[in-house]
Amino acid sequence: MPLLPDSVRVAVRGWLNCNQVLLRSAAGHVLVDSGYAACAAETLARLREPAMLGDEPLAALVNTHCHSDHIGGNAAVVRAYGCPVTIPRDEVPTIDDWTIQERWNAYVDQYAEPFAYQATIAAGESFRGADRDWQAHSAPGHDMEGLMFFDPSEGILISGDALWENGLGFVWAHDPPNPFVEAALSALEAIERLAPRVVIPGHGEPFTDVAGALARARSRLAAFAGDPRRTARHMMKVMFVFSMLHRGGIALAEADAYVARVPCYRDLDERFLGEGIEVLGTRLVADLVRAGALRIEDGFARPTMAR
Ligand SMILES: [Zn+2]
Repeated sequence: MPLLPDSVRVAVRGWLNCNQVLLRSAAGHVLVDSGYAACAAETLARLREPAMLGDEPLAALVNTHCHSDHIGGNAAVVRAYGCPVTIPRDEVPTIDDWTIQERWNAYVDQYAEPFAYQATIAAGESFRGADRDWQAHSAPGHDMEGLMFFDPSEGILISGDALWENGLGFVWAHDPPNPFVEAALSALEAIERLAPRVVIPGHGEPFTDVAGALARARSRLAAFAGDPRRTARHMMKVMFVFSMLHRGGIALAEADAYVARVPCYRDLDERFLGEGIEVLGTRLVADLVRAGALRIEDGFARPTMAR
């Protein structure tokens, strides 16, 4: 059996943009998640590839969760295709009051373009795509209001950021017991119960070693559960690399001033680390170069991974 039926197609993107999952059907093609706003042109180009939509219309767009790398391209997709948008029902407050998105994005130095939605979906409900029902299941943890979508007929799970092949979307730092870690573990349990044959993650290639992925995600969460300092450091690194992906990099001389300007770093440091942010930018760059996520070139730190 091929990994995925021909009607389920995936444009695998980098780390700034989530994957685009296209569910093809004569009844209308449905897209799951739209990528990051700054890369909307590239997202539309990927959708127009013959292996995805080609010249065909798009009937609907559904989001797993409302983070900037999953909804950022919604407005551009709607402009191009005029299709209705469905968001998780519990995310409605964060979209109806766009100042919540703006505040969050300013907090972490991200950006998303405002969009309108026409429908909502909640756990226990389903939508049609690729001539099958996709059940919505809660996927809390990385985003407490997020969903994942499961096709029981062929065991295909669209997991969003609840489970990747090597890890999962970051969880918030919190003094133990960390409710975000607990929630993320409950999402992993739900995935184990669904027992998917193949997982299409929000980032990275589709994979079938679900047991291995669950074990890796659990061991990561176990390391975070009792260690808010470690979780806070991890969050800072994830946020920093994400911002470097959309900025293209940063002059080494600017790193400390940049970190001082973006509120999440000061906040995380004050709450969990207490090391001060004066040289935090320099330290983050050094840590990320050592981890292979950034490289130094002509006085610039640039991300090594694809957008
Ligand atoms: Zn994501």
